[in-house]
Amino acid sequence: MPETLIYRLNFKRVPIKRTKPEERIKDFKSPVILGYTKAEAMREASRCMGCGLCIQGCPARLDIPGYVQAIARGEFENSLRIILRDLPFPEICGNICTHRCEDNCVYSEPVAIRHLKRFVAEQFKDYAPVINHNKKESTGKKVAIIGSGPAGLTVAYYLSLYGVDCTVYEALPVPLGMLNVGIPKYRLAASVIEKEYNFVKNAGVKFLFNTKVGVDIPFKKIYDEFDAVFLGIGTMMGNMTGTPGSDGKYVYHALDFLRMANLGETIPMGKKVAIIGGGFTAMDSARTALRLGAEKVYVLYRRRAEDRPSYPSTNAEEEMEETVEEGVEFWWKITPIEYVKDSNGFIKGIRYWKNDMVPDPRGGRLKPVPIKDVEFFVEVDTIIEATGQVPNLSFIPSDILQNLKMKGNEIIVDEKGRTSIPKIFAGGDATNETKDFISAVADGNKAVKGILEFLRIDFSTMRKVECLKVSEEMKETFGKDVVCDEFLNVQ
Ligand SMILES: Cc1cc2nc3c(=O)[nH]c(=O)nc-3n(C[C@H](O)[C@H](O)[C@H](O)COP(=O)(O)OP(=O)(O)OC[C@H]3O[C@@H](n4cnc5c(N)ncnc54)[C@H](O)[C@@H]3O)c2cc1C
Repeated sequence: MPETLIYRLNFKRVPIKRTKPEERIKDFKSPVILGYTKAEAMREASRCMGCGLCIQGCPARLDIPGYVQAIARGEFENSLRIILRDLPFPEICGNICTHRCEDNCVYSEPVAIRHLKRFVAEQFKDYAPVINHNKKESTGKKVAIIGSGPAGLTVAYYLSLYGVDCTVYEALPVPLGMLNVGIPKYRLAASVIEKEYNFVKNAGVKFLFNTKVGVDIPFKKIYDEFDAVFLGIGTMMGNMTGTPGSDGKYVYHALDFLRMANLGETIPMGKKVAIIGGGFTAMDSARTALRLGAEKVYVLYRRRAEDRPSYPSTNAEEEMEETVEEGVEFWWKITPIEYVKDSNGFIKGIRYWKNDMVPDPRGGRLKPVPIKDVEFFVEVDTIIEATGQVPNLSFIPSDILQNLKMKGNEIIVDEKGRTSIPKIFAGGDATNETKDFISAVADGNKAVKGILEFLRIDFSTMRKVECLKVSEEMKETFGKDVVCDEFLNVQ
């Protein structure tokens, strides 16, 4: 082993500070994680050996060793520039990314990539002066983006740098989709969303809020008037289980519950809350219920702890740890039979069975099968179903929709974000299986390439900038496809 490597090996992660659970559950403003200081960040970043295995875990193939090692050298501007080549939301990512990159790290205590990204983003109030955009003149081409989630805004941001006129149609009054109305503010502060929304907007992107395509403007008008259309519509329609008693008072789908909480609306609810589900939407619903004053919160999931969505991963472990330390109770292998109501329609509790996990004859995961001999009951007055969501495509007229190829509930796209219909591109939760923020960004980057090619915008003639040496090596090793080198002044 080379001497330098032995010298740099450092197995111990610099600990990150967290607020005390009993303090943070008092409101939505107290962040769970407090960021690194400059000294801590540089110390943590210096653990990175530059092997690049992390890049394979990142759907957007960010140049992680490039920006982490720049932090270790104290070159924060350079680090930010490297991140912004493929990701216009460094601080959002630094707060909520599922950080699968860290699962690939060779250390058993992985380099804290997500916290480091947050640190570097926090050093700058505005990124624009740092990156010195070399924005191209208008091409005269117009692209409509339906949905202002991370997929849509990645497309809007990078296309606008290429001189494309981008208009974002958004049904909600606020930008950034599920990041704003799904993820609670204790994990992602409103100020962070505002900062990075402004960054995209200031690149010249136009926004039309409270504009639901299919209601406030027909899809056909957009399709006819724009040179290309990107669908970044996410999965905004919640699946309800249909359990008897679901029509009782204080029964919600998690998407509605979280949206109301995030928009500051009053939510009629009781003090004993059951969440049905086991993914990050379930955890966020449980923790939101606590912050809204619930005294007892149970998460009821039909499988075992190790079968919950996105497990095993450091993200799933951290999320569970934080939720448990806040006082939420998890009950595994549960099948609700009925949401029991009183004579006024208020929920009194849940009748349920416990499940056995049995091999599925079709293969795959063990299947939960209720043991119906014994019934149980838990007293609750509020039920939140975090049982999945699907895209709502009803805004697309049937003559167009019939040609849109789907796989189950997902729109099929190719490696350039093209759907089966010419001119229509798509990405994000409506198209991918991973359904997380960084996958939506990765999809957006792919669609940028597809749309530029479709619009015949020649980007080969544009100024190429020299990347850090390490980045070039990474690109060679992993076939990394950088979309926006041309525009960012990376030294
Ligand atoms: C509770 C919760 C917690 C999560 N936590 C995490 C996390 O910690 N880490 C992580 O990586 N991911 C997390 N995710 C997932 C992440 O939020 C999504 O993967 C990501 O937001 C998907 O981005 P998107 O661009 O596909 O669309 P979305 O963010 O879903 O946004 C879609 C947008 O399209 C708009 N839209 C839809 N139809 C129309 C129409 N007809 N007209 C106009 N506008 C329309 C919607 O209003 C919405 O704003 C979480 C999701 C939820 C629900």
